[in-house]
Amino acid sequence: MSNARDEQLDLLIIGAGPAGLSAAGAAAREGLNYLVIEKGLLADTIYRYPVGRTVFSTPDELELRENSLRPCRDKPTREELLSHYVRFALDEGLRIHTEEGAESIERHEETGVFTLRTTRAEYRAARVLVATGAMAYPRRLHVAGEDLPKVQHRFVEPYPYVRKDVLVVGGGNSAAEAALFLSEEGAHTTLAIWRADWEQRDPKMNAIKHWVRAPLERELEEGRLRLAFFTQLEEITGREVRLQTEDGVVRTLPNDAVFILIGADADHTLLRRAGVEFAKAGLAEVPVYNPDTYETNVPGLYVAGHFTHARHIKQAIAVPRRIVPLIAQSFRTTV
Ligand SMILES: Cc1cc2nc3c(=O)[nH]c(=O)nc-3n(C[C@H](O)[C@H](O)[C@H](O)COP(=O)(O)OP(=O)(O)OC[C@H]3O[C@@H](n4cnc5c(N)ncnc54)[C@H](O)[C@@H]3O)c2cc1C
Repeated sequence: MSNARDEQLDLLIIGAGPAGLSAAGAAAREGLNYLVIEKGLLADTIYRYPVGRTVFSTPDELELRENSLRPCRDKPTREELLSHYVRFALDEGLRIHTEEGAESIERHEETGVFTLRTTRAEYRAARVLVATGAMAYPRRLHVAGEDLPKVQHRFVEPYPYVRKDVLVVGGGNSAAEAALFLSEEGAHTTLAIWRADWEQRDPKMNAIKHWVRAPLERELEEGRLRLAFFTQLEEITGREVRLQTEDGVVRTLPNDAVFILIGADADHTLLRRAGVEFAKAGLAEVPVYNPDTYETNVPGLYVAGHFTHARHIKQAIAVPRRIVPLIAQSFRTTV
């Protein structure tokens, strides 16, 4: 294999999640000289899902090759999905450097060629596709005690918490799911949630999925799980937490572990420093791009996946399949 550091690549793809892997598959099919740079592991975001979790999408929405994802049940687990993505990269012989983070992208005004600096090397490429996802910064509550070692912003598995007093904070499906897993496996669990989130039934508003809510309500009815309608988490100390409830009373609960699961934000530093423009989209900021080509205001710099308006895996896969052939076409028309 030639050394990507000495050659000029056609396409540099940053991120090996579903979007980056889909882009790499499409680039290989188009015969492009491409490389994927991934700061973590293959499909790192999926790797970080809770152990044993069943995803909410169907195989046809998740798979990178038609009919190749065949889970034991109707929807795959984290492990089945991860294995599918890893197998795709291996079977297709995709050119991916893992555990190498992209640090800066610069476009040479005269030649239009990009220089990408990473934690290990420097590369040159005619086009760059950024597919770095939206999970870089787990959101924080900024409360006293949030930096204690017992506080986590990601849930992996329930087994270290059996018979322990655990508080889960959050109003979306991830928090509800973590509370369910913990309660089912014998942790003394309290879910601290805003009433409006608990009562939210609109799936577009990140409501708790019905297949999580039903067993969660069973845990509540049978007295294993507690719900705290709170307005504010006041303080976390070594053995306790203090919550302000909606009637204005501050309750102190015994506590061994806290999970703050209130979402995450993308890291846009790479794109901003490269000169990409952003626009507000609800609470988040999204890069401005052409909706047909996903090219940004920086010519030759493309975006795809979770931090665009195409948020789920289905679109993270579909968009690169559509735009990489257009990128290949642009070489044929400019040569
Ligand atoms: C717990 C959980 C469950 C979910 N369940 C579902 C589901 O059931 N169905 C569904 O459709 N969606 C689900 N999602 C959302 C789904 O994971 C995302 O839509 C999907 O991962 C987006 O793919 P992506 O390739 O855009 O981004 P990601 O999968 O996040 O991939 C981005 C990659 O870029 C890498 N990266 C970031 N910065 C750099 C850098 N500077 N240099 C190099 N590499 C970098 C990251 O390490 C990562 O591997 C879930 C999310 C979570 C957190």
